[in-house]
Amino acid sequence: MIEFKNVEKIYSNNVRALQNINLTINQGEFVAIIGLSGAGKSTLIRCINRMHDITSGQLFVNGMEVSSLKGGEIRKFRKRIGMIFQSFNLVTRMSVLNNVLVSFVPELPFWRKLTGVFPKEYKIRALSALEQVGILDKAFVRVDQLSGGQQQRVALARTLAQNPEIILADEPIASLDPVTGRQVLNDFKRINQEMELSVIMNIHHVEIALEYANRIIGVREGQVVFDGKVEAVTQEV
Ligand code: ADP
Ligand code: ADP
Repeated sequence: MIEFKNVEKIYSNNVRALQNINLTINQGEFVAIIGLSGAGKSTLIRCINRMHDITSGQLFVNGMEVSSLKGGEIRKFRKRIGMIFQSFNLVTRMSVLNNVLVSFVPELPFWRKLTGVFPKEYKIRALSALEQVGILDKAFVRVDQLSGGQQQRVALARTLAQNPEIILADEPIASLDPVTGRQVLNDFKRINQEMELSVIMNIHHVEIALEYANRIIGVREGQVVFDGKVEAVTQEV
């Protein structure tokens, strides 16, 4: 469960990106955050895994107060929160399988990662994540030979292989064409339903958000201006 209590975020340039944020997001929800560019959507998402620090208020994620985490605890915490970006953030010259592997085998020496020698049990885990998103057949292909949609699926598999408690997605389909974007969101939806994993994404295609999410949070000028089930939004519009 994620709980924002009166959260405020002011960046070092004095931009107040979030104010008076009070939200509770429960396990298994599929939330879309919508709003104009600059509204604070990305900041909201990035505070959850502490890519950004909140300025005041409190933010709890599965019982932990995110601001109280220190050093190594932050790294451990981030592993429990899967993060997906618009730009995929993959190592494009490496194989699909190795991209997934390097994300959750931190204890291996660097040279073993470079040479691609990974213990079998890790490979099985990575391959099964690739299967979950339908790209098992691409395991040994280099990432730069894949389409954008396939690359986003690799990013999703990489996140799933870490057994996250929550998936955050910052504009996951912004750099994909609409058809491919829908395919990626279908994966998100299936994983949300099958694994009861919470998914929180920000997205600027409102009509697509309404199609996939269960709950819509509207943000304007750093504040929540709408929060409700999809049916409620479509009635208002
Ligand atoms: P959105 O995701 O809705 O487009 P953002 O959360 O990216 O909005 O931005 C909210 C506001 O905070 C904007 O005014 C933006 O310019 C500003 N902002 C975002 N990131 C930073 C940052 N790292 N440093 C300073 N200001 C930022
Ligand atoms: P924080 O307070 O969360 O550490 P900072 O204000 O230090 O964030 O900015 C983090 C990074 O984002 C910096 O590298 C900064 O250059 C960059 N940044 C600054 N302004 C913006 C903006 N308007 N939108 C997006 N990124 C920004």
